[in-house]
Amino acid sequence: GSKSFLYKSKLFLKAGQRVKVPFGSREITGFILEKVENPSSFDIPLIKIKSILTADESQPPLSPEKLDWLQWLSEYYHYPLGSLLNLNFLSPSFKKPKQTKKKTKTGESNLINSKTTDPAEPTPANLNSIIKKRLSFSEEAFLKLTPEQEQCVKDIPIDNSFQVHLIHGITGSGKTEVYIRLIAQALKKGGQALVLLPEIFLTPQIVKRLSHVFPEQIALWHSQITKATKKKEAQALLEGSKNLLVGTRSALFCPLPKLALILVDEEHDSSFKQEDSLRYQARDSALVLAKKKKIPVILGSATPDFSSYQKTLNSSYKLHELKHRALRQKLPEVTVIDLKEERKKSPFFWLSDFLLERMEKTLKEGKQVALFLNRRGQAKTLSCASCGYVLKCSNCDISLTLHQNNYLICHYCSHLESKPHRCPECHSDHWLEKGLGTQKVEEEIKKLFPQYKTLRADRDSISSQQELLNFIEKVENQEIQILIGTQMLAKGLNFPSLRLVGLLLADMDFNFPDFRAEERGFQTLLQMAGRAGRAGLGEVILQSFYPEHPNFQFLKSHDYKSFFLKSIQSRETWAYPPFSKLCLLKIDSLKEKEGYAFAKELAKTTRALSKEIIERHSSPSCHSRENKKDGDGRKKIPLIQVLGPSAAPLMKIKNRYRFQILIKTKNHQLMSRLLEKTIKKTPKKSFIQLKIDRDPYSML
Ligand code: ADP
Ligand code: ZN
Ligand code: ZN
Repeated sequence: GSKSFLYKSKLFLKAGQRVKVPFGSREITGFILEKVENPSSFDIPLIKIKSILTADESQPPLSPEKLDWLQWLSEYYHYPLGSLLNLNFLSPSFKKPKQTKKKTKTGESNLINSKTTDPAEPTPANLNSIIKKRLSFSEEAFLKLTPEQEQCVKDIPIDNSFQVHLIHGITGSGKTEVYIRLIAQALKKGGQALVLLPEIFLTPQIVKRLSHVFPEQIALWHSQITKATKKKEAQALLEGSKNLLVGTRSALFCPLPKLALILVDEEHDSSFKQEDSLRYQARDSALVLAKKKKIPVILGSATPDFSSYQKTLNSSYKLHELKHRALRQKLPEVTVIDLKEERKKSPFFWLSDFLLERMEKTLKEGKQVALFLNRRGQAKTLSCASCGYVLKCSNCDISLTLHQNNYLICHYCSHLESKPHRCPECHSDHWLEKGLGTQKVEEEIKKLFPQYKTLRADRDSISSQQELLNFIEKVENQEIQILIGTQMLAKGLNFPSLRLVGLLLADMDFNFPDFRAEERGFQTLLQMAGRAGRAGLGEVILQSFYPEHPNFQFLKSHDYKSFFLKSIQSRETWAYPPFSKLCLLKIDSLKEKEGYAFAKELAKTTRALSKEIIERHSSPSCHSRENKKDGDGRKKIPLIQVLGPSAAPLMKIKNRYRFQILIKTKNHQLMSRLLEKTIKKTPKKSFIQLKIDRDPYSML
């Protein structure tokens, strides 16, 4: 959805180059997208086409692959190319585009905008003129690899071909050491490497390790790095005086003229998805960039994303496994505690006698304890107090959310029912509402253990990079004995003195109203369990009202693969990703009524267009097998499904009303076609915003 303009020129110009052009009564800078061979096909009289004024040589042009990639981003995520080229993080000189997004009548922003710079990539000519600093890294800082690590390094060739490798290494298996060897190979060949991390707070620990091996080679890139520093880093990468870039998702836009390898650590993490402006998935986008640049990509995780893991089964990704901890530490033993039993005797329903006792012992021995409670958002789910049964939507297989204590709503399809009096399984009339928060836990723990220092780590208590760094430092220095936190604590941090991990209400993670709830819940539990005993003995105590939950068996044996194989089946049955593609159309409006009317109209349009597309797609000439797959007891899934409109789970935010439409299809080309047609047909309204969220992660 972006607009480009036709200009003529006698200059020798190439795609990706900056030029000065007349635009209206002004002179502005634009980018050459392509040379048009046949201008008459545009139906504009040649004399009306204006001339390009000059080529802007102040910066080297975008490489063809980078330009190609930016165009892909723009098309796939439905974000105007003009705005994309103008996004701040693209630009090494970081001039704030002063509202240059000039709107045309249709509301699209112009491709050719004024006062902009972009990631400059050197031409071969000036690459040669660049003074290359002598490559410096010290092999003395390498650790001796374990046999598994060695095998892994051997099996990953760093060459000029696109191949995706997934390193599935258990927590503490030493993935970082493998990355180090692979980066060293890329640098030795004169290439550059990019390491993407999901969160800023994971950068200090890995950078500390990397800088032992690659001193002076590392550039850092994330939202807390100042513009002045970013400018310097970009320059260093352009010149080749630095060749290793470590950063969060926006680092993908940094100029890396000799990029030879991309590493995505903790690749399963949903923080790789940006949730505003350009709603892109950095891991997925990295894969596309690597394909265009013909370089290898390495994805690493102890708990791989289901779609990534699925792709190793049909060998489109190559799987590498690290099954042992690097220092041969045992994985922590997991004890499952039935909270239904404990409830009667313990001080609080969420703290079993057993956990309390183990906490006392561990703390006395001078080791650290972490208590983990994954309470996300406002969602309250309802489960049976005697049998653990969870109420789910009959259309979506997703747990229902309690509203106003009386209604149960499905956040996917808006299905609504009243709260049943009795459990359909065991007829008990005792329902449990899950909604305990970390704050409450902190209060009570402080009362129980006044002699130890307790600290809470969640998005409420820690909001800045500095606070996070302080937190990490305090834990590392053992100034804190008891950590209480949400999934933030579960991410790849390495705390050697952390011995005991308590998972307070473990099953609740599986019942969050999202089709990824089980995957994410399990990933978080396993990651959290993996924080225990990284430098010695470790112990995990898992508390649940539903201790028989089959997933706990996989957790006890730390068996991610079996968990995956079991859980992926329901994804297939219900045609959720990776067996389908989703797109969320998000409507947000100042006025509730108008917003809803708009959403209804949009859904109608989308449905009508999807019918057209389906008819064309399944005409005899392009018959596909997919829509015939039926009769084996599976739910019949149409080629394209348009669900909604429904009110967003968090319907009113900042006085704006939010509605959404979910599109589900098996084929992402059909999705692209449908989106394009839909957007074209949608009228623009000043008080209503339509946002396209492709491959959405958050349904809120
Ligand atoms: P992962 O990221 O796979 O969870 P890390 O890379 O953080 O694991 O490594 C876990 C610990 O093991 C770190 O303290 C690291 O220094 C250590 N380690 C990794 N590989 C080796 C090795 N080959 N020899 C000695 N120690 C190692
Ligand atoms: Zn539903
Ligand atoms: Zn029951």
